[in-house]
Amino acid sequence: MAAVAPQPHVLAGLDRWRDLPLTQQPTWPDLDHVARVTERLATLPPLVFAGEADVLKARLAAAGRGEAFLLQGGDCAETFVDATADNIRNKIKTILQMAVVLTYGASLPVIKMGRMAGQYAKPRSSNDETRGDVTLPAYRGDIINGHDYTPKARIPDPDRLLEAYHTSASTLNLLRAFTTGGFADLRRVHEWNRGFMANPSYARYEETAAEIDRAIRFMAACGADFDALRTVEFFSSHEALLLDYERPLTRIDSRTGLPYDCSAHFLWIGERTRQIDGAHVDFLSRVRNPIGVKLGPTTTADEALALMDKLNPAGEPGRLTFITRMGAGTIRSALPALVEKVSAVGSPVTWVCDPMHGNTITSDSGYKTRRLTDVLDEVRGFFEVHRALGTVPGGLHIELTGDDVTEVLGGSEEIDDAGLAVRYETLVDPRLNHQQSLEMAFQVVQLMRA
Ligand code: PEP
Ligand code: MN
Repeated sequence: MAAVAPQPHVLAGLDRWRDLPLTQQPTWPDLDHVARVTERLATLPPLVFAGEADVLKARLAAAGRGEAFLLQGGDCAETFVDATADNIRNKIKTILQMAVVLTYGASLPVIKMGRMAGQYAKPRSSNDETRGDVTLPAYRGDIINGHDYTPKARIPDPDRLLEAYHTSASTLNLLRAFTTGGFADLRRVHEWNRGFMANPSYARYEETAAEIDRAIRFMAACGADFDALRTVEFFSSHEALLLDYERPLTRIDSRTGLPYDCSAHFLWIGERTRQIDGAHVDFLSRVRNPIGVKLGPTTTADEALALMDKLNPAGEPGRLTFITRMGAGTIRSALPALVEKVSAVGSPVTWVCDPMHGNTITSDSGYKTRRLTDVLDEVRGFFEVHRALGTVPGGLHIELTGDDVTEVLGGSEEIDDAGLAVRYETLVDPRLNHQQSLEMAFQVVQLMRA
């Protein structure tokens, strides 16, 4: 089949963002250097195939109808040094283990998506960071500058875009190998969950775990052994923040002549960059991937409606996901009006809950942290609101890691304020550790059944 050429206005539109208000970008010291790097990026192979993004769009459409459930999880900020086999494996394991529990609890297919293989750019509340009498540019993620508190590390370096590309490629390669090569076999993942349940701290989940165990043994006794047990679909995602990276990785799909941002399957617009006339909304309105927008507690219904209009004018199912991040204390009052007004329009939206970003606090000892109880309470509120309105709670967006870090307060193996110091490693936001993530999955199952 001959490749379909793009319409000239489609190509021109992909650069329209350059004339619009563009926030949360670095101040590059050398624009010629940026140009050389973006030209190089534009010649490198796409990281994902447009057809895979279309599959994901169909899956997210199903989640919007209540026929699937999204589990999107990973670091707040990935780093280059942490893109090791062990870290990647532990994160995938955690997501797969949670997914098994949720699949059982919801009796629905769970769409597995990592905040992985590209989550390197961070929005910041201030351009600078001051420690003592030294002020330096804020850390904006490994794709832009280094975290070390030195003038040299904090200078934005365009070569980091290439390192982000190559690190994403190797991460994605391992993700694909793990999820299709036998590592993710359902029976294996179930064995890992049995290992988790061996710890008496988690006795309260015994009943659900035993039910899952019986279901798996029943399937085995029936001789069930099919591809769906052995391999899983796993999608990549990140915040499309740094447009000097997203633009050169945007490619024309030869099947349709339409542009896809091939840096990941799913891209989202953050709470700080979702201005309707801004560069980020314009750029993502022009690529065909499934996309998300974070909606915080101050989002008005008019803003949400304008975003729908601009980002999904054709009302394509699965195209647009609203990721609400209201805070446990606010979701029950702020979400209903938004959902009601959006639903009244009739254009499909997949609603996902990010119970992390509205619940960030500073602990007495000075750590940026969250309480697991608040995180779970926001999820509870999310289910309550959607149930009351007859709309669909379509999934969860979680900051987590597969390791035993101590960044979030609480859990059955209680992490208290003093405990945060033991292993606090995140460079930006606090993540659920491996055990807290699994506990969350078990508790969400209880909510789904309530
Ligand atoms: C994030 O997801 O890490 C983030 C910065 O979220 P938000 O845009 O919702 O604040
Ligand atoms: Mn974050």
